[in-house]
Amino acid sequence: MRFFESVAKQIFQKEGIPLLEGHVANYPEEAMAISSEMNVPVVVKAQVLTGGRGKAGGIKFANNPGEALKVASEILEMEIKGEKVNHLLIEEKAEILHEFFITVSVDRGARRPVILASKEGGVEIENLAKTNPEKIIKYYPNPLLEFLPYEAREVARKMEVPSDLISPMGDIIWKLYKVFTKYDADTAEINPLVLTPDGLIAADAKLVVENDSLYRHEDLVQRMHYKKKAVDFVQLDGDIAVIGNGAGLTLTAMDMIKLNGGEPATFLDIGGGASEQIINQALNIVLNYDPVKVVFLNVLGGITKADDVARGVIAALAHVKRDVPIVIRLTGTNEKEGQEILEKAGIPYETSMEKAAKKAVEICNELKAEGR
Ligand code: GDP
Ligand code: MN
Repeated sequence: MRFFESVAKQIFQKEGIPLLEGHVANYPEEAMAISSEMNVPVVVKAQVLTGGRGKAGGIKFANNPGEALKVASEILEMEIKGEKVNHLLIEEKAEILHEFFITVSVDRGARRPVILASKEGGVEIENLAKTNPEKIIKYYPNPLLEFLPYEAREVARKMEVPSDLISPMGDIIWKLYKVFTKYDADTAEINPLVLTPDGLIAADAKLVVENDSLYRHEDLVQRMHYKKKAVDFVQLDGDIAVIGNGAGLTLTAMDMIKLNGGEPATFLDIGGGASEQIINQALNIVLNYDPVKVVFLNVLGGITKADDVARGVIAALAHVKRDVPIVIRLTGTNEKEGQEILEKAGIPYETSMEKAAKKAVEICNELKAEGR
């Protein structure tokens, strides 16, 4: 079974292989929110189970959240070698000085694991194997003995990497071999392993686990079940972001805004039973949508618990960079607890939807009168 790059990277990171920060996005607005939170140029990468994404257009760069939204929508529309793209990995963009290639797999003929490595990694590795096979070095660790760090450095030396890279390169090769054995892999690969001004980093990760061993790696298999679309989001023409739990309640909240002379900027339904994490995500999405001047969060707790909502609000506000007023209407299941949490954090709330909608429109009008 082959794993998504994002899952392989979790494993590689756990074993100490250096990586850049990355997060999975399942729809464009989420990519935008992640990019905004990371606040650095990012690479947006299709998560599919085939290689050659770079050449197929499944890897794109974005300098800001707006670009991330755009390229994420493009990639999510794509099919790569017949595979629909449902997930993206949003990762800090590495400044690449050089691309190497290292892989551990099984040489069926030799009936042994083999390490293949080259100082010329990247998307052309298959061509290199055909045109210049001598540039790919092969090393056969003894499967009955422990693979030792000095052997890994020996591989690095054979790759003819600069002397200051032999030790860090050897370390990564040693760890990759460890991943290979520990996870019963058919293949554990880093292509490209990139040299950046900050050192070596795994820019890509491939992990294929032997099917007969999957029962030993249940947690790994679980990680492949990404949830698609946690929230429903529609961009509108106005400037008041409307968030609600349940489509009906969200539509009603939009009507209330209209009735008071306001214009909704978003329809965002967080659904029933929205967790703290989803509230956080929803607020991030609307706060990163430029036209939004005021947020109207309308929650009537049922399955959704008011205290979870309150905690989500606080979590989201902790790292918001834009100063946007939020009007909260919070009632229903666990309302006492939820309201208490907001009070403690000094965040005002309403219990009447009518009052809250009116207030949101008033604040928006004031901001506009001030020319903001
Ligand atoms: P693959 O085509 O499916 O193997 O996808 P990779 O993740 O290997 O990416 C393909 C190519 O995109 C790499 O060889 C790099 O040249 C480029 N690339 C990927 N990530 C980055 C990055 O963070 N920064 C830069 N500058 N290029 C990247
Ligand atoms: Mn690759």
